[in-house]
Amino acid sequence: MTEKIAREQIWKILDDYDTENLHIGVLGGHSALDVCNGAKKHGFKTLAVCREGREKTYTKYYKTRGDKGCIDETIVLKNFSDITKPEIVKRLQEMNTIFIHSRYFWVYFNFTEIETKFRVPIFGNRGLLKTEERDVRPNQYDFLKNADIRMPKQFSDPKDIDRLTIVKTSEAYRGYERAFFFASSYDDYVKKSKELLERNVFTEESLKNGVIEEYVLGAQVNFNYFYSSLNDELEIMGTDMRRQTNLDGLLRLPATQQIEVLNHTEPKYIETGHVTCTVKESLLEKGFDAGERFVKAVKNFPPGMIGPFALQGAITPGPPKEEFVVFDVSMRIPGSPGTMFTPYSGYLYGQSISCGDRIAMEIKRAVKTERLREVVT
Ligand code: AMP
Repeated sequence: MTEKIAREQIWKILDDYDTENLHIGVLGGHSALDVCNGAKKHGFKTLAVCREGREKTYTKYYKTRGDKGCIDETIVLKNFSDITKPEIVKRLQEMNTIFIHSRYFWVYFNFTEIETKFRVPIFGNRGLLKTEERDVRPNQYDFLKNADIRMPKQFSDPKDIDRLTIVKTSEAYRGYERAFFFASSYDDYVKKSKELLERNVFTEESLKNGVIEEYVLGAQVNFNYFYSSLNDELEIMGTDMRRQTNLDGLLRLPATQQIEVLNHTEPKYIETGHVTCTVKESLLEKGFDAGERFVKAVKNFPPGMIGPFALQGAITPGPPKEEFVVFDVSMRIPGSPGTMFTPYSGYLYGQSISCGDRIAMEIKRAVKTERLREVVT
């Protein structure tokens, strides 16, 4: 097996970089515009690596021209995964590229390729990204557990189901998309899983690898953070909640119609976008506390947390107290550029900034103080 790229090798590549002439690189998809817009504001050049057929956002609509646009350069590939080809890696290195990873790194690649072949400095902890998946170790549950953050109760044996649960598997067709169903008892679980297996919504294998979680009834909120490893300081960039394809459509129906629709349609939780929301100020400290604990728990995954991450969950009513229960984690930029329309970064910086801005600020500072090595892997 090919060896994982050592951090020292990345530092060697960095040593040959002209740090006055960096490009901030992204995959043309998840959060690319936010990152590039932030990078341009802070004087960096930008580069989007796109997939053929879905490149126009970057090569046309948001391409830099005159004083408009934020994508300076593009590389269009047949597949995103071609990014690990030696000639592309070489080109990225020649452009002094610092790459900002996103969920696409997991969805569109074999992650091992990134760990063994992508010899381009990545801002953040390269290996941490894959721990978002539930079938690797350590995974997000391990970190949440070590952080002593409240998670939904899990049922390893469906026979133990004693309350409403959400069963999380992967879709048969799009392995990267999750398929869900609800079950409130073992009989219910058997009946529904049989029906969905027959309809090929998921496979036996993905059901076996899936998780059964207590369904958390609360006000959903995602805390989107930035951990500055340079300052050892945690910031809340903003709070939001998700919009999810037909689930959002379903929620806009009266209950009787919902029941009717659910007789022949599965609710899908595929993300469509986010709604900016705020939390009452007295809940902020719960958010900070969870974030601080999470950063601490990730310290045993060297080099620990660097930059953006998010804890996604819901605030439950108690008693005894309202509680932030976390059911998902993003180990990278969370993909919701609207977070800057919450007030939290503005309280800190005097004006609202986006996650893309914040990443650029951190890289700029790292360059200026000659600490770039500390924030890349
Ligand atoms: P996930 O892919 O685990 O982030 O789940 C997708 C969506 O399912 C979330 O955005 C929530 O709306 C919902 N969800 C996931 N897990 C739970 C849970 N344990 N309780 C309530 N809702 C959940």
